Amino acid sequence: MTALINLVYLISVSLFIVGLHRLSSPKTASSGNLIAALGMGLGVLIALFAPIESGNNNYLVITGALVFGCGIGLVVAGKVLMTKMPEMVSLFNGLGGACALLISIAELLNFHNSGNIELASYLTTLLALLIGSIAFSGSLVAYGKLSGNIKDSWKLPSANMINMILLLTLIATSVYQLQVLDTMDLVYFIMIISLVYGITFVLNVGGADMPVIISILNALTGVSAALAGIIYDNMIMLMGGILVGSSGTILTILMCQAMNRSLLNVLAGGFGGGASSAVQVGDQTVKEVNIMDASIMLRYSTNVVFVPGYGMAVAQAQKICKELEDLLEEVEVNVRYAIHPVAGRMPGHMNVLLAEADVDYSKLLDLEDANKFLNDTDVTIVVGANDVVNPSALDDPGSPIYGMPILEILKGKHVIVLKRGMSSGYSGIENPLFFHEKTSMLFGDAKKSLNSLLDELKTIV
Ligand code: NDP
Repeated sequence: MTALINLVYLISVSLFIVGLHRLSSPKTASSGNLIAALGMGLGVLIALFAPIESGNNNYLVITGALVFGCGIGLVVAGKVLMTKMPEMVSLFNGLGGACALLISIAELLNFHNSGNIELASYLTTLLALLIGSIAFSGSLVAYGKLSGNIKDSWKLPSANMINMILLLTLIATSVYQLQVLDTMDLVYFIMIISLVYGITFVLNVGGADMPVIISILNALTGVSAALAGIIYDNMIMLMGGILVGSSGTILTILMCQAMNRSLLNVLAGGFGGGASSAVQVGDQTVKEVNIMDASIMLRYSTNVVFVPGYGMAVAQAQKICKELEDLLEEVEVNVRYAIHPVAGRMPGHMNVLLAEADVDYSKLLDLEDANKFLNDTDVTIVVGANDVVNPSALDDPGSPIYGMPILEILKGKHVIVLKRGMSSGYSGIENPLFFHEKTSMLFGDAKKSLNSLLDELKTIV
């Protein structure tokens, strides 16, 4: 039986790796997701037959928990709107941390009750508790920030100092507990401080830096799951945790590069955020364009670039973008999509939406290629993007986002911005792009505006 269980674990882990590999391209991502889910299903199923120390699996409780958990997961995932997906991913990530927290508490209680404490195992379990608790409460705060329930302006005074004190307290109490190993009291204290640290450390992070923090939390959950795998000597938990931990770490590095920020800088906080949601227009004026003029500009262009942002996800405008692309390509206008790595609210957000609309992957340009292509662009259409096209990042040393690589859309001849009003983006920073002489605003919901453009274009092609 043990050999069979190990064989199935090996198959599950292989399915994780194949699934993860397929996730790297939009073409294979959806089958990759199913393959990895199959691996997880197999792993969970075979784990039910694994022998346990007490020799008696409580199948009633396990089945109840499985039915309850799967039921909630199915209902929530089935109902969630595409725009709420990043929040849900954060919540699910937090639940991974919560699992590590509960497992560790149960195991530490076992250690203390049995009096049979092995230092290495105790240390591993304490680490899983610490990291799992941080990932849990941090992900809940990230969820609150992404859903807008926690305002970016809610920052603690002297947050860096508080975080440092909490971190030092955690290290000191953990070292002390490992030496005395007497009661669970200090363990509960460590759990509470870790939970508080998760909150204060994510709360402090500035709006535009959220992509980095989301990837860090993801990596932390992976590490806590891997530690839980060590605790139970369970290969699939260990390997799954390592895969999540390492991919989360790689994503963190990529996100830091995308923001041109060091990790330390991000953790110190303060990149954007804090401003009100309405941009101070002051005495600057914006130029508007009507549907007819905008469609004529598009019809007589050679190169057109769409710049999707979070607003495209809100408006669900990706399919209309694709229809517009098809129509323009019929009259030999070259269409490309410029994708900023942090556009939207989760890594790869825009790629997922455009793949769902059947946009050819070869038409998606990453930041570097897009910035080259923009030199020869006649019209750039900004579909609900804001922070990722903010030129202050390039030319305003006083701006909180100065130094962040952006899509340099002012290199092209004309810019048309589709948005509903003058609200700022996620970082709460004013965007001078809207007042630039090359820019014309087309106000309204992006889907409606693109639909009107499509109808108008049909009359002139
Ligand atoms: P932004 O959040 O900067 O801006 C989105 C814009 O879309 C808003 O200005 C809004 O203006 C507009 N909008 C909203 N709804 C609609 C609609 N229905 N139709 C038309 N426009 C609409 O988006 P970006 O994608 O440019 O930037 C992403 C930001 O989110 C960055 O700051 C990034 O750091 C952050 N972030 C990214 C994460 C990631 O992993 N990718 C995770 C967490 C945060 P208006 O209301 O006036 O219409």
